[in-house]
Amino acid sequence: MSALQSATPQPVNLLDFDAAGLTAFFAERGEKPFRARQVLRWIHRGFVGDFDAMTDIAKSLREKLKQIATITPPAIVADRLSGDGSRKFLFDVGAGNAVESVFIPEDDRGTLCISTQAGCALDCAFCSTGKQGFNRNLTTAEIIGQLWQANCVLGARGADPKGERIISNVVLMGMGEPLANLDNAITALRLMLDDNAYGLSRRRVTVSTSGLVPAMDRLRDECPVALAVSLHAPDDALRDVLVPINRKYPLRELMAACRRYLERAPRDFVTFEYVMLDGVNDSDAHARALLALTRNTPCKFNLIPFNPFPGSPYRRSPAPRIRRFAEILIEAGVVATTRKTRGDDIAAACGQLAGQVDDRTRRSERRIVDVRKLD
Ligand code: SAH
Ligand code: SF4
Repeated sequence: MSALQSATPQPVNLLDFDAAGLTAFFAERGEKPFRARQVLRWIHRGFVGDFDAMTDIAKSLREKLKQIATITPPAIVADRLSGDGSRKFLFDVGAGNAVESVFIPEDDRGTLCISTQAGCALDCAFCSTGKQGFNRNLTTAEIIGQLWQANCVLGARGADPKGERIISNVVLMGMGEPLANLDNAITALRLMLDDNAYGLSRRRVTVSTSGLVPAMDRLRDECPVALAVSLHAPDDALRDVLVPINRKYPLRELMAACRRYLERAPRDFVTFEYVMLDGVNDSDAHARALLALTRNTPCKFNLIPFNPFPGSPYRRSPAPRIRRFAEILIEAGVVATTRKTRGDDIAAACGQLAGQVDDRTRRSERRIVDVRKLD
């Protein structure tokens, strides 16, 4: 036996398991499924990270768990509050990498935007995460750990004094492409939906994708939640430039995948995200082409004013241009909202979650943005 094999086994991080995984973990150790359910509730409803606090679990089992398991979320290394109430958390995910979540409170909901990868390999032209390159997929513990930590920090154990949840909605719209890390994302999604964990309805959990068609089909089959698709261009020539994955999954295939998704989706529309880039994709003609493209696909549009970042070649479309663009869609009977630019003062708007990534893809033009140096 090598020295490595004889070393004490690494404790298992229970945040990596959904209900089925935890049940299997307990079964392998001769424990009943209801024990797994109890522990799941302690972790994801009680936000307890210490086995000794799990008072209805037999002391002998607690001692055993302490030997073989941990409950370890990624550590929060920065926590910034913006003037408009949004709040950004920076998490250390090891080896020089950090990822971010943003909490966005609104009158009728509180949304947490979480990350799924350290960096992103898809290299969209206007995205600061993409420009940092890709390091690795986050584990399930690192994905769900962002929600776990935010619940702990935002207090009231996930509920406000009126009995409402502080975090009522989750969007996988932070750093990374969730559908390129689908196994771990699905396990985390199952925890979000589980009544013994976060108990969110499918309509309140949204996955945002740049359009990985086969993975959209898998998500539909395995864990359909609300879907947002980053469209950004009405034709293949422009989308090939802005969202390079379009060269692999062009618009015709993407639109067909959206319609297939809708057969099982909890909402009867897809949200198309459309970043407004001055002089690039924001003309009246682009708006009309979008209407033609999406004619057969029930959808809503979310227009996102571009968030500039150092070194980016693009500018945000002027407000009157965005208004006119929205009007063209609305006049044709399509719902189009324009995203408020929140958290500008702490660089917390979606798509601006810079984090810090030790780029393994080593593209020559890569820059590393360390948000901790942006004070
Ligand atoms: N990878 C997924 C989810 C993360 S990006 C996706 O691409 O959908 C979340 C959203 O922010 C996407 O719609 C993305 O296109 C948008 N985005 C990225 N960079 C942006 C920027 N600089 N300004 C505005 N939106 C941006
Ligand atoms: Fe990746 Fe999404 Fe950024 Fe594109 S927009 S590079 S898919 S995180």
